[in-house]
Amino acid sequence: MNRARLLHFNAALGPLDYKVPAGMRVEPGSIVVAPLGPRQIIGIVWEEERLPSDSVPDHKLRALIEVLPVPPLRAELRRLIEWTADYYCARIASVARMVLASGGALRGPSTMVEYRLSGNEPERMTPQRAVALDALQGEQATIRELAELASVSEGVLRGLVNQGVLEPVEVDIDRPYIKPDPDFAQPDLSADQQRVADRFIEAVQAEKFAPFLLDGVTGSGKTETYFEPLAAALRMGRQVLVLLPEIALTEAFLRRFEDRFGTPPVVWHSSLKSTERRRAWRAISSGEAKVVVGARSALFLPFARLGLLVVDEAHEVSFKQDDGVRYNARDVAVMRGHFEGVPVILASATPALESLQMAESGIYERLELPSRFGGATMPDVGIINLTEEKPERGRWLAPRLVEQLKQRLERGEQSLLFLNRRGYAPLTLCRHCGFRFQCPNCSAWLVEHRLSNRLSCHHCGHETTPPPNCPECGEPDCLVACGPGVERIADEVAEIMPEARVALVTSDTLNSPEKAAAFVRQAEDRMIDVIVGTQLVTKGFHFPELTLVGVVDADLGLEGGDLRAAERTYQQMAQVAGRAGRGTKPGEVLIQTRHPEAPVIAALAAGDRDAFYAAETDARRDAGAPPFGRWAAIIVSSEDEAEAKEAARAIGGTRPSLPDVMILGPAPAPMSLLRGRYRYRLLINARRSAQVQNIIRDWLGTLDFPQGVRVAIDIDPYSFV
Ligand code: ADP
Ligand code: ZN
Repeated sequence: MNRARLLHFNAALGPLDYKVPAGMRVEPGSIVVAPLGPRQIIGIVWEEERLPSDSVPDHKLRALIEVLPVPPLRAELRRLIEWTADYYCARIASVARMVLASGGALRGPSTMVEYRLSGNEPERMTPQRAVALDALQGEQATIRELAELASVSEGVLRGLVNQGVLEPVEVDIDRPYIKPDPDFAQPDLSADQQRVADRFIEAVQAEKFAPFLLDGVTGSGKTETYFEPLAAALRMGRQVLVLLPEIALTEAFLRRFEDRFGTPPVVWHSSLKSTERRRAWRAISSGEAKVVVGARSALFLPFARLGLLVVDEAHEVSFKQDDGVRYNARDVAVMRGHFEGVPVILASATPALESLQMAESGIYERLELPSRFGGATMPDVGIINLTEEKPERGRWLAPRLVEQLKQRLERGEQSLLFLNRRGYAPLTLCRHCGFRFQCPNCSAWLVEHRLSNRLSCHHCGHETTPPPNCPECGEPDCLVACGPGVERIADEVAEIMPEARVALVTSDTLNSPEKAAAFVRQAEDRMIDVIVGTQLVTKGFHFPELTLVGVVDADLGLEGGDLRAAERTYQQMAQVAGRAGRGTKPGEVLIQTRHPEAPVIAALAAGDRDAFYAAETDARRDAGAPPFGRWAAIIVSSEDEAEAKEAARAIGGTRPSLPDVMILGPAPAPMSLLRGRYRYRLLINARRSAQVQNIIRDWLGTLDFPQGVRVAIDIDPYSFV
């Protein structure tokens, strides 16, 4: 190649051509540095014919500066990048940016300095130094990390470095990871598990694309089952990616992985330190990192030799990214399997309707685990009709649920109360004048967080301290909390059963992997009687002594205009119910609702999953909703309300008229103000046959908007706010 076309990250310019200087070798996928004006940019060499641009004559080309010391992005990954950009109507550079997720990694191997205790004593012992010496036994890390570990200031540790108590160690950032051992501790699988695992192993060995839906009830041992094809891929020297929905889930997962394979996997998520990120990225691209467990962003990592993809809890909404490139990691994972030519396993106890439909139509192979592992039975589900069985005044738990909680406490068993609402109360108002605390940046109430003494907006993060008097009428002692959040439920439990040990589990209290791990350990060691939590507790946890699950308000998810509300509610309830009775003792679930007749609730009470999916399928078919029809959203926003409205009108006014497409809106979004931006939405509902992406591109491509206007396209949207 003596010229090269670059995909780069300068949004204002199209693809750029460069001369490849003598002696430099590049190929499609090479990551290079090129001059642009007085600056240098990073770019990826791309096939010219796949990235059209005006051709520049040879003599006008500037020369590439250098090729970065990392393997070129493979063709399989380049095709995935193109597909993702095309399908989600995103810029190809925005997708490629997710691949180059570590700037440092591109710069090649490097070392850094860490510190450890040298064995020398400090000249003078202070209480702080004593604490540090005690806490840092056997540790080695950067000064900043050690300071955090020991809970002392960095200054204290620098003092110890100067006295030779802490010694520097030069470490290779690229030091290798320990390889998981496929034969470390092989479990005895049940007959059902073995049958499913064998089918997976066969698919891994075939080295071909094969999408699977692993449809197994909660507690059936889906993880143990897909660990076997994972081991098979390892034996073949291939890499494996396991996508998980939440960081909170990974701690428990990591331990199980280590029990099975003798060492933890390589972890990838958004809060990695930059050195960890860099080390992982390089090991993944060299093929040295064998198993990667990560959040959705791990999907775009440059694996050298992938052999299997697993998406665990594949129904989870958090696989859908709602800013930047609005992709669904579950769907893109299947496409990655397709391009790489490897099997993909989507595992869930409550698959998305879309996934079930794919299985139904024979595109995915469905494998079932119909019963819980080790003879545990599925829990009994009972309904508490809140219009008849009312909680006491000012309380939220009905007498029957309270009674059951007390019984569990007496028997030394654990209970779980689920309410998908962080904080103490979702709304605070003035009893005197009716004033309500609202976010200045969003159409949302401020949520009271009593533990941190804050009123906060869950959309933009705006926070204030609750004032003593009403800011509107000035009256003292007149502010009242309306409705419950988990903090309030935890208070109620403490009032009803003062001797109970209550754990509050929300993203506020479990905001680090360490805290998540500590919680899991406490629950397993039976140091917790009642867990009160948000959707964080619906997933993945396995506590054998947990025998009662109470759903505080099943109607919460059914409110609002979310087109998938019923499915999501069903999944959430079924998952949280799935935490009960996973050990030898049977579990019971009590669901509080004002609408026992709603099909979702009725199906849960009857334990009739098929009935729910059948009813929901019919409803979706009638509405032309996914998977029978297609949705796409256009979200127009601006800090200037008139400008947003005008742009939305302009889009609405030029809507195409097509037989198989219906376009609704523009209308103010349910969150008409979000993070200081005014928002309008259009919803496109099309037949499956319609080329929605092309229609949108043609339509919006002809329009120009003022600088301050943002137009976002959301293909297969999950959020409708
Ligand atoms: P699921 O993800 O399907 O809800 P899990 O994978 O969490 O279920 O499995 C439930 C529990 O049963 C876990 O504690 C798991 O370790 C255990 N388990 C499942 N299968 C086996 C097996 N074959 N041998 C030993 N323990 C198993
Ligand atoms: Zn806000």
